[in-house]
Amino acid sequence: MESVALNMAQKNSDLARLLAPASVAVIGASEDQTKFGGRVFKFLLQHGYNGTIYPITKSKETLFGIKAYPSISKTPTPPDLVVMAVPRDSVKAAIGECAAVGTQLAIVITANFSDAGEEGAVLEGQIVEVARSGKMRLIGPNCLGLISPANNLVLCASPTLAVDCLPRGRIGLVSESGALMAAAFDKAMTRGIGFSHCFSIGNQADLDLCDFVDFLISDPNTDVICSYIESVKRPERLLEVSRRARLAGIPWLALKAGRTEFGAAAAFSHTASLAGSYQAFEAACKAGGIVTMEDVDAMILLATGLSRHPNAMLERVGIVATSGGSGIIAVDSIVDAGLTPAACSKDSAKALEKYFPPKSAAANPIDMGTALPGPGMAFACGAVNALMRDTSVDVVLAPLTTFQDIEILCDNLSAGAREAQASGYDKPLIVVFLSGQAGDPGREALRRHDVLYTDSLDEAIKALSGWRRYNALTPQHSTGRPTGMPSQRVSLAGGGAFGERETKEMLARYGVATNRGKIASDAEEARQAASRLTAPYVVKIVSPDIVHKSDVGGVVVALDSPNEVYEAVLALGQKMTDVRPNARIDGYSVQEMHRVELEIFVGARRDPQFGPLIVVGAGGILVEFIKDVAVSLCPISKEDAVSLLRNLSISKLLDGFRGSRPRDVDALADVIARISWLVVDLGERFVELDVNPILVGEVGKGCVAVDARLLTE
Ligand code: ADP
Ligand code: MG
Repeated sequence: MESVALNMAQKNSDLARLLAPASVAVIGASEDQTKFGGRVFKFLLQHGYNGTIYPITKSKETLFGIKAYPSISKTPTPPDLVVMAVPRDSVKAAIGECAAVGTQLAIVITANFSDAGEEGAVLEGQIVEVARSGKMRLIGPNCLGLISPANNLVLCASPTLAVDCLPRGRIGLVSESGALMAAAFDKAMTRGIGFSHCFSIGNQADLDLCDFVDFLISDPNTDVICSYIESVKRPERLLEVSRRARLAGIPWLALKAGRTEFGAAAAFSHTASLAGSYQAFEAACKAGGIVTMEDVDAMILLATGLSRHPNAMLERVGIVATSGGSGIIAVDSIVDAGLTPAACSKDSAKALEKYFPPKSAAANPIDMGTALPGPGMAFACGAVNALMRDTSVDVVLAPLTTFQDIEILCDNLSAGAREAQASGYDKPLIVVFLSGQAGDPGREALRRHDVLYTDSLDEAIKALSGWRRYNALTPQHSTGRPTGMPSQRVSLAGGGAFGERETKEMLARYGVATNRGKIASDAEEARQAASRLTAPYVVKIVSPDIVHKSDVGGVVVALDSPNEVYEAVLALGQKMTDVRPNARIDGYSVQEMHRVELEIFVGARRDPQFGPLIVVGAGGILVEFIKDVAVSLCPISKEDAVSLLRNLSISKLLDGFRGSRPRDVDALADVIARISWLVVDLGERFVELDVNPILVGEVGKGCVAVDARLLTE
């Protein structure tokens, strides 16, 4: 363990060293600003890099007065870092040349490697090989480089960098899309928000997302990490690095592309269509304490908020609006997002009576349009100040419409916040401009005062709800193996699909209660089977060709006597001959019926990246329709299974709803933990499992799985 930690720290300081090079060479540098190499070279010069710069070009002796060199091998000292956008087929040679002189890091902007198919992927493998054999690391290919204000190092050609001075901040950004990185940088800059480092990581042929996140965790200039992710290269590393970020107290926010892209719905189980690759990613983020975001701007807004107010705990929102309407809309959005409009205290109402009529003073939202006549706009300062000092307010949101003297208004809002913050009420103020250009003087004022603002209420709400999710992160419980389970891996006799009976047998071995039943081959056998079981009964068709039995009318419930079972089997046999004449019928399952009170679905599937996932939700036939599910990596502890259940909308039903008694959540959580271990134990051959439904009894009465199926390789 210790040596692993040491190695990691070692690797990390390596990257820190590589990202602070003593010399940088730009291959293809020029003075021409229409060219990529022209802009990279110019921005490098312009943004204060204080190491040695080597422009590499054969066409000129000097560029902007700096001596140029015809090749990497001709520079007086070997450049530590080289950036190149040479044609694809010259990259390998260029990398070889860099490695030969002892360059340590190369940024390859050139595209059309693994991003463009097989041939490119082969070439990409080769350039990594060449780099590694020369002990050189690579960023890219197919990236836009890096913007590191903290290191005064800019190696990127984006036109957003054509400004005199780049803002510096304490947010690190790692992006799989270079274009999105530049856009986010630009937008943040217009709002007065800066970064410590931004990395465009391209195809991640060598250095990958986790390497950069790992660097940022230890970087003294970074407080919060933002990331844009398209694919996770090393899932286990993601988990490892995310845990490191948690330990270091560095929030990690992630926006992942492909949120809505569900995997192809498999016919075998519900699970596959309920927990696609994005849900797997979310489950991994949850396990590691990464906050997932749906929007770049909200992610940057939240990151800025977290870096300025690391100890804020958000739940109750105080609102100061410039009009009634804007305040009410804000309240609606807050409630929709599951946040709470604050109920302000009597003290703040009293303080506000100086500026507002009593009814407005006691309200949330406060409508500043009702302010009493008075000097300047002291009411704005007073309103924010009173809300921030109020112990029942966690954050102040200020939706602004057009307003006379918006600049003075914003100066006052800022002053109110600053004063309260200086007195120890370290709470965020977020201003939302609902207007267009009329708000510009206000925006400028807020930039001057370092106050967070956005032009979208939706973005503000998304940031607030992300903030709350960050606050709510809890360390996961350790997952000790529950007792009463096989101590070894399950060895499967043959693979393929397992039907209800075999799967239930497996569940029973893991301590999951199942209902009693027997398989009969005809109506007479079924009658006899029933007489040895307790009424009432259920009869189900047993066929390898019928996966969802009730879809074809293959389940008959509430049979009160062995005779009814006999009749039901006859009818079922006839029905199958009619509706599924080609299905192989292995028999009829005669089972004890349990009282159906609450049906819960528990499924699992093996994600190609994150391994086995468990999915819980409302059970029965509505599961795919309602899509009220929660997903976790496996194994899961009983305690975490309880939290998982709490994420469901049907969680209320578990507590007893409208006269129904509370359910045995404890037993259900235990079953979920056991099933999660079963699928872990099934190992690589495990594909999918549906246990649907589990009938959950009242507190103390336990729960029972009445249907299950399993697919293995
Ligand atoms: P399938 O999912 O293949 O259609 P199930 O065995 O899940 O078939 O049965 C369908 C529904 O019948 C269940 O969702 C449940 O409501 C009910 N059911 C099945 N078995 C039992 C049982 N033993 N006790 C009570 N209800 C049952
Ligand atoms: Mg079922």
